[in-house]
Amino acid sequence: MLREVGAPLVVEDVELAPPGEGMVAVRMAATGVCHTDLSVRDGTIPQSLPAVLGHEGAGTVTELGPGVTTLAVGDHVVLSWMAPCRRCFFCLAGQPELCEHGIDHAFAAPYGTANGDPLWCALGTGTFAEATVVPESATIRIEPDFPLEMAALLGCAVVTGVGAVVNTAGVSPGETVAVIGCGGVGLAAVQGARLAGATVILAIDRIAAKLDLAIANGATHTVGASADDPVATAREITAGRGVDHALEVVGLSSTVEQAYALARRGGTVTVVGAGAGDDVVSIPAMSLLADAKRVQGSVYGGTDPARDIPRAVTLARTGALDLERLVTRRSALRRDQRRVRGHERRRGRPDPDRVPPTSDEASERSGE
Ligand SMILES: [Zn+2]
Ligand SMILES: [Zn+2]
Repeated sequence: MLREVGAPLVVEDVELAPPGEGMVAVRMAATGVCHTDLSVRDGTIPQSLPAVLGHEGAGTVTELGPGVTTLAVGDHVVLSWMAPCRRCFFCLAGQPELCEHGIDHAFAAPYGTANGDPLWCALGTGTFAEATVVPESATIRIEPDFPLEMAALLGCAVVTGVGAVVNTAGVSPGETVAVIGCGGVGLAAVQGARLAGATVILAIDRIAAKLDLAIANGATHTVGASADDPVATAREITAGRGVDHALEVVGLSSTVEQAYALARRGGTVTVVGAGAGDDVVSIPAMSLLADAKRVQGSVYGGTDPARDIPRAVTLARTGALDLERLVTRRSALRRDQRRVRGHERRRGRPDPDRVPPTSDEASERSGE
């Protein structure tokens, strides 16, 4: 849990309230770590504290609050941090990812206590824990034979990255795609581009190891963001035009501007990364007209969790999505670990002594 903005995460025993009206208790099996957790930790995303972080997880329903009708104790569920109300303007317009009330429950009331202090649930999900309490509408039931560890990734990274490509950008077979930022969401976008039939998938990152991961996830070309010239590379492999679709999965004005430069005339620029409120993107007005590029944001990959998470399960079962490829390391949440040191760069093997990373990965800014 996070007790103060910028502080290391700490492990504590907490008391969760029993599930209220329309809420369910879930025993967590696994959680992913997303860049947005770091944005909560560094104060970019406001949050009442102390709070349990984590918002992409899966587990087993253990208790139903009054009025819950679609779940039973023992059901396996993926948690969605967006819990669409299905009644507001945006839900009715078919954009549940923009639901006006989708995370109201995160701010409504503390969901437990930590050492006597009111305890909050970041993004209304709180998956960095053995258990959580969420609205029924934040759960998507999955078949019991689907591995919960893999299912955890479907709650944010996979649907955000794949959805940005499929739902927001609308990539068609034979098109060309560039992805800036190869963290979990960026790699999911690379897989989404492969799934959509893109013939050129150019992955861009500052870190060479992430480019290797991008290749493993289906990138056809890679280019280093700092040493090389991604725009020149994109032009070389697209007959001088630039890519049909450029996706920014970092959250900086400089990389949004780079995505704009990567896209061909008439192409799309899709912003997936969560940038700061005072970081202003600059695009020449003449180019906005004459180059006719479509610049658009993609919240949660334009995902309807009730539609897209079951779809992702099916795609993973067929092998069209390779969830195991998105896992760079595993670690345990250790009860006896009171203070957690962050930032170690070890990959490729399980490390049971670590809980999810906490520290200066925020400065890495290379995708969620
Ligand atoms: Zn996330
Ligand atoms: Zn709504």
